[in-house]
Amino acid sequence: MSKRDLVVIGAGPAGMAAAAKAAGLGLSVTILDEQPRPGGQIYRDVDRAARVRGDILGKDYSYGASLTAGLRHTAIDHISGAIVWAIEDGFRISYTKNGRGAQIGAVRVLLATGALERPMPLPGWTLPGVMTAGAGQILLKQSGMVARDAVLVGSGPLLYLIAAQMVRAGTPPVAMLETQTQADLIRAMRHLGGALRGWRYLLKGAGLLTEIIRARVPRYTGATGITVEGEDRAQAVTFTKGGRKQRIPCETVFLHHGVVPNTQAARSLGVTHGWDEEQSCFVPTVDDWGQCDIPGIFIAGDGAGIGGAQAAELAGRLAVLKLAEELGRLSATDRDRQALPLRAALNHELAVRPFLDAAYPPFAEASSPADSTVVCRCEEVTAGDIRGYAKLGCLGPNQAKAFGRAGMGPCQGRYCGLSVTSLLAEANGQTPDETGYYRIRPPLKPVTLGELAAMEQVDLNAAE
Ligand SMILES: Cc1cc2nc3c(=O)[nH]c(=O)nc-3n(C[C@H](O)[C@H](O)[C@H](O)COP(=O)(O)OP(=O)(O)OC[C@H]3O[C@@H](n4cnc5c(N)ncnc54)[C@H](O)[C@@H]3O)c2cc1C
Repeated sequence: MSKRDLVVIGAGPAGMAAAAKAAGLGLSVTILDEQPRPGGQIYRDVDRAARVRGDILGKDYSYGASLTAGLRHTAIDHISGAIVWAIEDGFRISYTKNGRGAQIGAVRVLLATGALERPMPLPGWTLPGVMTAGAGQILLKQSGMVARDAVLVGSGPLLYLIAAQMVRAGTPPVAMLETQTQADLIRAMRHLGGALRGWRYLLKGAGLLTEIIRARVPRYTGATGITVEGEDRAQAVTFTKGGRKQRIPCETVFLHHGVVPNTQAARSLGVTHGWDEEQSCFVPTVDDWGQCDIPGIFIAGDGAGIGGAQAAELAGRLAVLKLAEELGRLSATDRDRQALPLRAALNHELAVRPFLDAAYPPFAEASSPADSTVVCRCEEVTAGDIRGYAKLGCLGPNQAKAFGRAGMGPCQGRYCGLSVTSLLAEANGQTPDETGYYRIRPPLKPVTLGELAAMEQVDLNAAE
């Protein structure tokens, strides 16, 4: 098989918009995504679910169908259910589909792997019945299922969206325990100028809150000391609000305190990353075309820094303008001319972010959990274990692997990486940048020997 001009990893808004733009410029494109249908996180399963649940999921969700339609271009090969686990120089991309390994060659690669929910380790968070709010939303989008007697815990716009979607589905949450405080809102006010430029988002947020309030969902802001209680499954959440301890019985707990870039693929390639103070997470270092320090690799969307779905789309198109120019399909003048309105729209989209980041910061108790709380779920390593490693001289997450296998399970650190970094940074009096992150190596996701044995390998030289 000949090399594709562009292989996009991730069929969310960034990847879909990029693929369509690249095909429009005459490039051959393959887009790989582990999901059975395109859409990414926000537009998950949109072609099916918008028809049956569009009223619950909202018109911003249904809009995603305009992006999935763009994938029907003849120059685009969309391979769904493709779990990418290695990207090698040259570029050779390995993935698994239907239990078989496969490979594909690419001249340029766009990583559009999106975001993950920030880990929220709290006492009791590993009990059955506790999941991330995003996982609860996946059940709704993909299967039309809504958990009964659910308490939503955390902060951020997505928490309000999911609560409002549950209200519309006729199964409102029992309560919302919100971790942001009045002081956070006051701190956010210094970004009011940007927030006003992004007034559409504020208006949308106000609309969601109105739906939640009208449905009489009890809201407790500034909640602290949050613990999920239960013997063999979640039965209640306890917390303190205004000095008073309270208990809310429930069957399900949805946790969410923001999303962070999914950096595993970029890290496996050795892309430079740095700590973003405002977003409290690591982000890859990219220029304003999404190009990183590995020639030929571009990153767009939430994977390059959290900006939301509209920003992801615009960033995907910008990356394609640059790589198409590099491949001789566009002059530099045309590239810059087409980029101009995209950049203006992107700046507009991003204007509200500093306000949102300050108003809904990560929950401090989840960044520094109690000693007995498990942080690495795959290997059952607790926060106390990590602090113990620091006392023995452990300075970073990679060393922590040798001390106690944190980050060495099936998720390869995707869900504990930030927790381990913040615990070690705190214990050693260092910054997250000084502490660093796991060194990520392929396979990014688990691969079986059978899948490897069934793999047809691509010879990159023959593919030229
Ligand atoms: C669980 C969750 C739910 C969210 N829901 C909403 C919402 O309802 N509304 C909203 O405004 N924002 C939502 N967001 C935020 C939202 O993700 C983004 O703003 C937007 O979807 C980002 O678009 P993207 O193209 O960068 O990435 P995404 O939309 O996240 O798309 C990335 C795609 O890459 C795929 N991928 C990642 N790694 C691999 C791999 N190794 N192999 C193959 N495929 C891979 C993923 O499966 C995914 O389909 C959600 C975020 C999360 C984490």
